[in-house]
Amino acid sequence: MRQLIIIGSGPAGYTAAIYAARANLSPLLIASSVEAGGELMNTTDVENYPGFPEGIQGPALMALFQAQAERFGTTVVLDDVTKVELDGDVKKVTLGSGETIESLAVIYATGSAYRKLGVEGEDRLSGHGVSWCATCDGFFFREKVIAVVGGGDSAMEEANFLTKFASKVYLIHRSENLRASEIMQERARQNPKIEFVLNKVVERIDGDELVTGVQLRDTVDGSESHLELSGLFIAVGSDPRVHLVHGQLDLTEEGTIKVDGRSSRTNLPGVFAAGDVLDPTYRQAVTAAGSGTVAALDAEHYLASLPRDIVANAVESETVPA
Ligand code: NAP
Repeated sequence: MRQLIIIGSGPAGYTAAIYAARANLSPLLIASSVEAGGELMNTTDVENYPGFPEGIQGPALMALFQAQAERFGTTVVLDDVTKVELDGDVKKVTLGSGETIESLAVIYATGSAYRKLGVEGEDRLSGHGVSWCATCDGFFFREKVIAVVGGGDSAMEEANFLTKFASKVYLIHRSENLRASEIMQERARQNPKIEFVLNKVVERIDGDELVTGVQLRDTVDGSESHLELSGLFIAVGSDPRVHLVHGQLDLTEEGTIKVDGRSSRTNLPGVFAAGDVLDPTYRQAVTAAGSGTVAALDAEHYLASLPRDIVANAVESETVPA
C-alpha cells in the first residue's frame, strides 16, 4: 500500500511528484514503458519554459524534471498502467507486469494522445512514411519532399524542424486561419523550404509499401488534387488519454476529466487530475506543471484529512514494484 500513486510522467506528473515528495508522501510515479517523459520527449527546442532564456531541448527538460522528483524521494516505475479501480478508500492500479499496487490517493496525469486524420492509408502506412513525430522520424527524409498536416503550433514547429532534412515541406491546413501563435506562423512563412497549402484536407494517403503522395480536397470549391510526397507528418492536435477511467471519472463535453472548480478534485474522493488530461484550452508545459502542483497540494490535504492510523499503515507498508 502507498500513500500516493501518480500516473503520468509529463510536466504535470513530475511536478506533482516534486511537491508530493517534498511533503514526505513518497510518491510512486508510473512513467509508462515506452513514452516516459510525455509529449516533450518528441519536441526539440522548448523556448517558452521559464528559467531557460536560451531554450532547452524537450528530452533534456524532462530529464531535469525526473531528477528533481527523484531527489526528494519519488520512485519512478517504467511500466504501463493497464487498469485502475478508483472508487473506494483504497485505489488499485494494475501495471503491464500484472502487479496491482494499492494506494490511498491517485493523481491522474496521463496527458493526451496524438489525433489521427482517420483517412485511408493512415494506419497501413504508419511507420512507412506516415509519422506523428518529426524529431523521431525527420532524419529518414533527407532531401525528400514531405508534408505536415495541421495549423497549430505543433504543425509549425514540425514543419520548421523538418526543413533541416527535407528539400521541401508542404504545410497542409484545412482553412486559411491558423491556430498557431504569431511567432511560430511567421517563422514558418519566412522559411523558404515551406510552402503553405491552405483550404485543403487530406482525403487519402497513397502508397503500397511507402508513402507516395496524398489525395487532397479543396474545402472551398470541392476540387480534388494530388500531391506527390515521400512522407506525411500529422500534427492535428491530441485528445486526452482517458480510456482507463471511462465509467469511473466524470468527463467534460470536451472529453477531459471533470474537476471541481479550480481544484484538481475529480468526482471520486482521493482521485485528482492534472495537466492536459483536464485542460482543453491552455495545454502548455508550464500550465501542466502548475496543474501538477495543484494536484499534489490537493492530495496532501486529502491524505491529511484521513484517520491517522490509515495513513500510518500505508506509510509502514510502502512497497516498490519489482
Ligand atoms: P491545436 O492547437 O489543437 O491545433 C490543431 C490543428 O490541427 C488546428 O489547426 C486544427 O484545425 C487542425 N486539425 C484538427 N483536427 C484536424 C483534422 N481532423 N484534419 C485536419 N486538421 C485538423 O494542437 P497543437 O498544434 O498540437 O497544439 C496543442 C497545444 O500545444 C497548443 O496549446 C499549442 O500552443 C501548444 N504547443 C506549443 C508549442 C510551443 O509553444 N512551442 C509547440 C507545440 C504545441 P482547426 O483550427 O481548423 O480546428
